[in-house]
Amino acid sequence: MKAAVFEGPRNVAVEEKPDPRIEHPCDAIVKITTTNICGSDLHMYEGRTSFEKGRIFGHENLGQVIEVGSAVRKLKVGMYVVLPFNIACGFCKQCERGLTNYCLTMQPEPSAAGAAYGFADMGPYQGGQAEFLRVPYADFNALRLGEDAEERQADYVMLADIFPTGYHATEMAGVKPGDQTVIYGAGPVGLMAAYSAVIKGAGRVWVCDFHTDRLRKAEEIGAMPIDMREQDPGEVIKEATLGLGADNGCECVGYQAHDPSGHEDASRTMNSLIENVRFTGCIGVVGVFVPEDPGGREAQPQIGDFEAKGKVPIDWGKLWFKGQKIGTGQAPVKRYNRRLRDLIAGGKAKPSWVVSHELPLDQAPGAYDHFDRRDEGWTKVILHPDG
Ligand code: NAD
Ligand code: ZN
Repeated sequence: MKAAVFEGPRNVAVEEKPDPRIEHPCDAIVKITTTNICGSDLHMYEGRTSFEKGRIFGHENLGQVIEVGSAVRKLKVGMYVVLPFNIACGFCKQCERGLTNYCLTMQPEPSAAGAAYGFADMGPYQGGQAEFLRVPYADFNALRLGEDAEERQADYVMLADIFPTGYHATEMAGVKPGDQTVIYGAGPVGLMAAYSAVIKGAGRVWVCDFHTDRLRKAEEIGAMPIDMREQDPGEVIKEATLGLGADNGCECVGYQAHDPSGHEDASRTMNSLIENVRFTGCIGVVGVFVPEDPGGREAQPQIGDFEAKGKVPIDWGKLWFKGQKIGTGQAPVKRYNRRLRDLIAGGKAKPSWVVSHELPLDQAPGAYDHFDRRDEGWTKVILHPDG
């Protein structure tokens, strides 16, 4: 089959790889029809992780079931499914707690942070930027879609990651109707956090970034863009809140290799949130800060300051003084997935507004390059392995 493969830092190639096979009676094989490039792929693409050469990218996947193992009960051949990026068993202690993002059965070692398709340090599972994908514990890990799935793939595929992740940021931040919420980052994840806040009925949603095209997307859903090249979020928010600060905030930036200041950039978003969120307000952090020594292995050649990327100097004193709370981590996608699917099915959410490009899988190398450079107009890329 054709697949988008990591060949080294900033080098993706579309190559022939062996077709996946059923390896366990609970597996299914899904023919991938829609798969996205994510900001999280860039941590691997840019060479910041121990992602192995030859691994297939892709954790935001949707497709049609073409084969099921002998123990699969619910899924049937022909069904359209979307696949939460977390791979989980459904029966371990963590899954029972609803923490499918820390599944003990599927993660590579007890200290790892869960399992995912096509990810560094999250198990050996291949990604779905390919024609086919093996889905472990498929009855648990596939969310069935309705009859409109085929025509609305660009909406439903967002359920694999960025819609629930944006929603998770607003959950950790405790966004409620009427709240004033500030989002850092107008990438796909920040835009989905803003969208979630709007759906929850937030009174005002500010989105901070310095890319005009991305800020314009935020405006499309009624959020208020703050172009950090021209405005200081602190001044805008203080003026609008009589100096109190926003009720809550979301960090949707994480480590950004493109900022010349590298890790300082990450501390800037965290310190700005602490500064601009009110006393006792909550901050939801979904932006990824790759740990210093992932999996205890030797890192590949690094771009940027590898030593510092997970260590972010934040003003702990101010955080404590203001009585704020911070929630962090990967989204447990399954927690939100059915609800968000049904918002889409009911016509109340249309997350495909975030998409800028729909391309055949063959064009993955160029698409990675444009998305990685944050080129004007490249907000979110969808790939179709079937052309
Ligand atoms: P992205 O990296 O393209 O988006 C980041 C945006 O932040 C960019 O538009 C960039 O211009 C902007 N930015 C950079 N520095 C900034 C600053 N100081 N202030 C405000 N904005 C700034 O991609 P994305 O897909 O939106 O992903 C964002 C982050 O979310 C990444 O770290 C990604 O790994 C992470 N993520 C986390 C989860 C999770 O489960 N927690 C899931 C998906 C993605
Ligand atoms: Zn993703």
